[in-house]
Amino acid sequence: MKSTYTKDNIITLPNPHLRERSARIRAIDSKTTQLINDMLAATLDWEKSRPHEVAVALAAVQIDQLYRAVIVREDFDDKDNKNFTVLINPEIVKYEGEITSEQEGCLSVKDVYGMVPRHSKIRIKALDMSGREVRFKSPNAFIARVLQHEIDHTNGICFVDHIAKQKDAFYILNDKGDLDPYPYEKVVKSGILPDEEA
Ligand SMILES: [Zn+2]
Repeated sequence: MKSTYTKDNIITLPNPHLRERSARIRAIDSKTTQLINDMLAATLDWEKSRPHEVAVALAAVQIDQLYRAVIVREDFDDKDNKNFTVLINPEIVKYEGEITSEQEGCLSVKDVYGMVPRHSKIRIKALDMSGREVRFKSPNAFIARVLQHEIDHTNGICFVDHIAKQKDAFYILNDKGDLDPYPYEKVVKSGILPDEEA
């Protein structure tokens, strides 16, 4: 099934849809397959336009389809490997390990990064594309972080919401691909923070 989706279908903050809860997928059918293909097409097209970044994952809401579907790259270190794992209706069933803060970015928050606290281990429950239930533990802290970020999207939460009051947590990508501290006044002015905090 082909897709006409491109990076231009990816919505970015302050689009309010990014703060809405997505709906459960009741039946996995040809519409679901098309949704996943559209997510893949938009993600890979975005990556082509971003020399310094890898597209590690996407939630359906990011292409403005408010369904609980997530794609996660199989190999984050190899841009040539364009295989993604599909998770339908993913849920975190258990949080484990310690909480650590690392840089996080998002295809829906252009150029902005932030130090976000996350659990280092989680247990996940989801459906695969054949409708079978899959349960697994995050194999490492990075994947645990990615999965928490994406499942947050299905619940209308963006990474910046976790650090909205932390004035020194924000960074911005420069032309060379490095992160510079992003002054809090500029973060506020950019409109990416949730209303209550802005
Ligand atoms: Zn994101």
